[in-house]
Amino acid sequence: HLVLSGLTKSFGAAPVVDHVDLSIEEGEAVVLLGPSGCGKTTCLRMIAGFERPDAGEIRLRDKVLAGPRMFVPPERRQMSVVFQSYALWPHLSVRENVGYGPTTAKASRGEVRRRTDEALAMVQLDGLADRYAHQLSGGQQQRVALARALVNDPALLLLDEPLSNLDTRLREEMRSEIKRIHRSLGVTMVYVTHDQAEALSLADRLVVMHAGRVVQVGAPEEVYRRPRTSFVARALGATN
Ligand code: ATP
Repeated sequence: HLVLSGLTKSFGAAPVVDHVDLSIEEGEAVVLLGPSGCGKTTCLRMIAGFERPDAGEIRLRDKVLAGPRMFVPPERRQMSVVFQSYALWPHLSVRENVGYGPTTAKASRGEVRRRTDEALAMVQLDGLADRYAHQLSGGQQQRVALARALVNDPALLLLDEPLSNLDTRLREEMRSEIKRIHRSLGVTMVYVTHDQAEALSLADRLVVMHAGRVVQVGAPEEVYRRPRTSFVARALGATN
């Protein structure tokens, strides 16, 4: 469904993403795990279309999105991105933030209303539709960002450290929420984090990255039990 082949990107001399190959199935939740600077965010940004690869190819449902002679801009990639910073419009209500995408895509008012209500119910924010971002807690703001991502019915949901700004309790709560939403919608998800607990709990398949390369891919329990290198063991929090 999503295929990355030989994906490479440099900022200056050394590649930040170095020949990454990865194939992600429809409906799968794939987590890119690795320490700061290993290239996971740059990978996600290339998938989203915010960065152009220097080499390699990105295909979604057999359509080339990025390659030597092709570049599809982010707004035409059928993807939604959830950022660590939420990035909500401060002058718009929750309902207007979530409905912004469908409104600009010229859906009818009734359709915008229906889809917005559905997305808000999915993240359990039905009661707060008329509030503004500053009247919400961090967790609630992240729920709005999630609803805004889901309202477009994306072929791919991309999340970049979405829970890093939340305290431990909220982080665990939102982790279960994201898991529930992923299960109930069956949306394909690529999730970037440096947090091993988050990665182990959310991933159908875990991708451990080190210095721009994929060092191990597998089911989380398998990677945890049989890390291929001491780097992978440390990334998963092993103490020995
Ligand atoms: P983090 O969790 O800190 O974001 P990461 O694993 O997601 O880390 P990237 O954000 O992909 O890593 O960054 C990888 C390397 O590329 C870093 O050394 C970073 O400084 C560098 N880098 C990223 N974007 C740019 C840019 N636009 N210009 C120059 N260097 C960049």
